[in-house]
Amino acid sequence: MAELEGLEFGKSDFVLLDEVSMEQFMENLKLRFEKGRIYTYIGEVVVSVNPYRQMDMYGKDSIEAYRGRELYENPPHLYAVSDAAYKAMKRRAKDTCIVISGESGAGKTEASKYIMQYIAAITNPSQRAEVESVKNVLLKSNCVLEAFGNAKTNRNDNSSRFGKYMDINFNFNGDPTGGHINNYLLEKSRVVQQQEGERNFHSFYQLLRGSSDEILESLHLQNDPALYACTKEGATSNNDRSSHRAVMNALQVIGFSKEEINSIYQILASILLLGNVQFESDGESVQILQLEAVNHISDLTATDPESISKSLLYRTVATGGGEVIEKGHTEQDVSVFIFKSFGRINSVIEVKNYNPVLHGKNTVIGVLDIYGFEIFDNNSFEQFCINYCNEKLQQLFIELILRQEQDEYQREGITWQEIDYFNNQIIVDLVEQPHKGIISILDEACLTAGKVTDMVCLDSMDTKLAQHPHYTSRKLCPTDKTMDFKKHFRIRHYAGDVTYSVEGFLDKNKDLLFQDFKRLMYNRFSSSPFLKEMWPDGQLSITEVTKRPLTAATLFKNSIVALVDKLACKEPYYVRCIKPNEMKSPVLFDDARCQHQVAYLGLLENVMVRRAGFAYRQPYARFLQRYKMTCEYTWPNHLMASDREAVEAIITQHGFQDDVAYGQTKLFVRTPRSLFTLEQERAAL
Ligand code: ATP
Ligand code: MG
Repeated sequence: MAELEGLEFGKSDFVLLDEVSMEQFMENLKLRFEKGRIYTYIGEVVVSVNPYRQMDMYGKDSIEAYRGRELYENPPHLYAVSDAAYKAMKRRAKDTCIVISGESGAGKTEASKYIMQYIAAITNPSQRAEVESVKNVLLKSNCVLEAFGNAKTNRNDNSSRFGKYMDINFNFNGDPTGGHINNYLLEKSRVVQQQEGERNFHSFYQLLRGSSDEILESLHLQNDPALYACTKEGATSNNDRSSHRAVMNALQVIGFSKEEINSIYQILASILLLGNVQFESDGESVQILQLEAVNHISDLTATDPESISKSLLYRTVATGGGEVIEKGHTEQDVSVFIFKSFGRINSVIEVKNYNPVLHGKNTVIGVLDIYGFEIFDNNSFEQFCINYCNEKLQQLFIELILRQEQDEYQREGITWQEIDYFNNQIIVDLVEQPHKGIISILDEACLTAGKVTDMVCLDSMDTKLAQHPHYTSRKLCPTDKTMDFKKHFRIRHYAGDVTYSVEGFLDKNKDLLFQDFKRLMYNRFSSSPFLKEMWPDGQLSITEVTKRPLTAATLFKNSIVALVDKLACKEPYYVRCIKPNEMKSPVLFDDARCQHQVAYLGLLENVMVRRAGFAYRQPYARFLQRYKMTCEYTWPNHLMASDREAVEAIITQHGFQDDVAYGQTKLFVRTPRSLFTLEQERAAL
């Protein structure tokens, strides 16, 4: 029997608030957090507050309680939304997606794991071996991706430094048959540089602390992270050793061969050793100081030491006329190689193991766990990309939620009043519009021959975008004594104003990798398909590669546009995560921080849209089936001309006529209050 929550836990759906105001919203959110009710609905959207403690609500019993049930039959939970997405997929053959958003540490990744666990638990009841193995791979993929893509930051001990979108494919039985993972904008700079108190990606420490002496020796490594420039920050942690075992196991379950696992660790080792290589410059040329490290790298990558040194110190550059010249470069460039090779490891994991296994027509549930809006003291290119991505997702949210609503009301002949909301398309255009947008201006600067600096690029933006209502040029950025606004521009995002420092924008956008090194790696690893695959453009001729490489911002834009296209054709479910405080405390509810998040996630507007429309809808026959026992005219059977009339009888008897509208085939219910009451009556019978 469905058990609903008592009033002492607050309103389980924000749509039920007496009045839609920030004050009431916050009061309810806080009350529920304090009572351990971390999930609350806005219609079908789940608002989740990170509990920062183990909750007893994810076990087998809970899974059973939510399996196959409707949203309003149980207290709010991720499982209910997962089930709704699964049901839509299975019963109506709809592709669905679950979009999880929120800032760092708000609980997105944990939520995505619970969703996956739920889906794994309710599928394949007959335990078919091949389906079980697909489920295992999907579940284990998290462990591997987290090892290579997560790190301790000041905001989250296990922060995902990349965006993740996972498609799970299902066959007509509703059992998973495969999956595919896309990664977005890995924070590559972390490999060589971490802020104080932060760590590099977990995998480096796991390798150093968890490997046997024998393996470490073969990799020319010692078991102390403090010895390596890449890992000396935050070298101590208790669980690297056990995590290493878990990752090794996961790699095996996923199907990596011993050689492949070995190759991955050889690359990690090369990066650790490379990080320790220092360069000396006499103003004219650059020399490598640690030749021993170069020898070790040469051994690990099966490349002769001269080629390594040469490609570290020189790169060939195709000039405009197609003539190839050699050019010395600085230490800084070396890090670029490290970034890139790390990115490749990640993409190899993805490509190798998530090729969808297609058995005829299948349906998909997509799960998106992607960075939320970021406003730091110092915002750079990364924040620019991340915030652009959030603008795109907000645009999708508006488009999907409103478009879907309106389509259905029209189909069912229901009158609907438009809600006024801020359409952020104008900001999306500011960033991505061809020729005029910020990305175009950046790209133009990057592709111009000669020395274009960040500042020249900023000048160009300030001139071209001066009139844009969401752009503030550096001259107009407020004078703040603590900051030098000469290098800044500001964007008025839908979630708030963000001031970006243009410094480093061009370098990060160019994202160079020495073409020499790519070709060297490609040629050397021709005998190892696994490693060779990591350098796909190594086979291109020099001129082909360097002629007009796509910039980082354009690549990112393309990948986000593709992502949005993918999501737009699916039925969306949303999980909005909120971080209650900065101290990782299970008891502290920081009002100001929470209110800020509620505001920029647009949750209040979400409640308004939901209240103006109809939160729930059900075909007449289904509604009748479930609630006919609550009305004398319909129990056990009705004698009316249609199911619709019978449903009208139930609604009128309960006095809910103002809360509903009658469509062609469905009953529309404005607030969940009526359904809760009906549920309670059912339960009491
Ligand atoms: P980032 O953007 O940095 O990746 P995130 O939103 O993915 O952040 P998580 O890693 O999911 O955040 O959560 C941060 C931490 O909060 C977890 O490591 C865990 O300690 C705690 N946490 C989050 N959700 C839950 C939950 N449902 N139950 C218990 N603890 C949780
Ligand atoms: Mg995360």
